[in-house]
Amino acid sequence: MVSKRTITIIIPVYNEENTIQVLTSKIKEVIGVEEKYAFEIIFIDDGSIDKTWLEIERVASESEKIKAIKFSRNFGHQSALEAGLQHSQGDAVITMDGDLQHPPEIIPKLLRKWEEGHEIVITKRIEGKGVLSFYKKYTSQLFCFLFNLISTTQIIPGSDFRLMDRLIVKELEKFSERNKFYRGLISWVGFNTITIPYQVDNRLHGHSSFTLKKLFNLAFIGITTFSTLPLKLILSFGMVIAVLSLLSIVFVFWYKNYVDNAMFSNLALLVLFIIFSNGLLITILGINSIYQVTMLRELLGRPNYIVHRSINLKRI
Ligand code: UDP
Ligand code: MG
Repeated sequence: MVSKRTITIIIPVYNEENTIQVLTSKIKEVIGVEEKYAFEIIFIDDGSIDKTWLEIERVASESEKIKAIKFSRNFGHQSALEAGLQHSQGDAVITMDGDLQHPPEIIPKLLRKWEEGHEIVITKRIEGKGVLSFYKKYTSQLFCFLFNLISTTQIIPGSDFRLMDRLIVKELEKFSERNKFYRGLISWVGFNTITIPYQVDNRLHGHSSFTLKKLFNLAFIGITTFSTLPLKLILSFGMVIAVLSLLSIVFVFWYKNYVDNAMFSNLALLVLFIIFSNGLLITILGINSIYQVTMLRELLGRPNYIVHRSINLKRI
């Protein structure tokens, strides 16, 4: 008998005691009809302080296909995803939230797209009326807009619900950077990607644990590991100031000597000199930044290319 292909479902959870049971039974219902696959579910308890782990133990005792990892403290959603990916065995991996905002009913759709040959299936949330708070909706959209503006890697809001082929998981394992921004990395690696829409649901219980501080941290990691534009802008900014103030100084000198000496005071000239010297300093800082850009690239150590397929060559 040919063994079935395995699908891993990774679910990071933080204080979701009221959801584990319902979520698990909903997922079981959905995967129950997917007979051609074997499934494993990996819960990652990201240092919950409620009864989440007890709930996970309870559902895991019913089936050995339900696996779990408990962190020693709250390390954050991205680290939970990393742990899940490292322990996954599936030919495809699905990551989803544990609060039922990512409806398990979409899982078959992800699988169908994978079967069609897409190696990454990203979901794009469409908001149901009143589901996402004004704050959540717009901070997320604003962040994606800014990110896409300054980075060549493009992301879409709320796409943490996705399927990845084992190929991608293998590539992601090679990334040695400590602060991982998966949404960006998954877009960065390439491969055949398709986006499907889903209607985001209300949180079943509790409230979002993504505090403003956590969101900012993630946004900073995303931007600093995906865009060097702010650093490059420093150089342009300094040069523009230095050149403009130098031109003004030349102009004022000329005007005072050849047209009207009283038009500009010496104080005005002094101010221009100060602006010029600041411009020079920022330019020097900018040159420094350009070296930092190179260092950052070396430090992140991302591969220069990723091979998708090859012919008559053994893949290493
Ligand atoms: N989560 C986590 N660690 C955290 C915060 C959240 O593992 O520090 C989990 C959480 O339990 C949920 C998912 O990540 O399964 C998304 O979190 P949340 O629903 O709070 O975020 P939102 O949907 O508001 O973006
Ligand atoms: Mg949520």
